[in-house]
Amino acid sequence: MSIPKRSLLKIIVIGDSGVGKTSLMNQYVHKKFRQQYKATIGADFVTKELQIDDKLVTLQIWDTAGQERFHSLGAAFYRGADCCVLVFDVNVFRSFETLQNWHEEFLKQADPTDPETFPFVLIGNKVDIDGGSSRVVPEKIAREWCASRGNIPYFETSAKEDYNVDYAFLCIAKTALEYE
Ligand code: GDP
Ligand code: MG
Repeated sequence: MSIPKRSLLKIIVIGDSGVGKTSLMNQYVHKKFRQQYKATIGADFVTKELQIDDKLVTLQIWDTAGQERFHSLGAAFYRGADCCVLVFDVNVFRSFETLQNWHEEFLKQADPTDPETFPFVLIGNKVDIDGGSSRVVPEKIAREWCASRGNIPYFETSAKEDYNVDYAFLCIAKTALEYE
């Protein structure tokens, strides 16, 4: 009998305040959604175990404690990340515009060995709002942004309705595993 391989993958989730980062993680790990989250106090990350093919994977998903407002997350947050998840709100154009800053900030702080191939994943969240009629960032524009940055995988989600959340995180895990 072969012993399955184990991997610990550090996933960091960044993007503007209010886009739903904490909600996505809570939906994925705890299957819960709340209208209000207090600024995260205490744990820096949550973990989730999953099996991918013959590998046991522990995802260590790092959340911010609200410091993203000041763009000051500190080196420890970024250090050793295996995948960087960028999140925006499809109903808030500004949160899409700032992705570029987050992308740059990550590369600067985490300083990965090969910035060209480091795995990013983009999530457009809150697609449930008003049945999509208040959205201001079309899927096509988001996909173009991803294409121009080395084909970053893109997912649209609703943390509220638990739409596409498991699937996005599974792909995040696979993307990180490939890079590891
Ligand atoms: P963070 O600052 O990026 O961590 O964002 P939060 O997870 O704290 O979410 C900010 C607000 O948006 C909260 O009131 C959430 O309940 C709400 N929210 C998060 N995700 C969704 C979603 O998919 N749909 C809707 N309608 N609201 C959401
Ligand atoms: Mg949060």
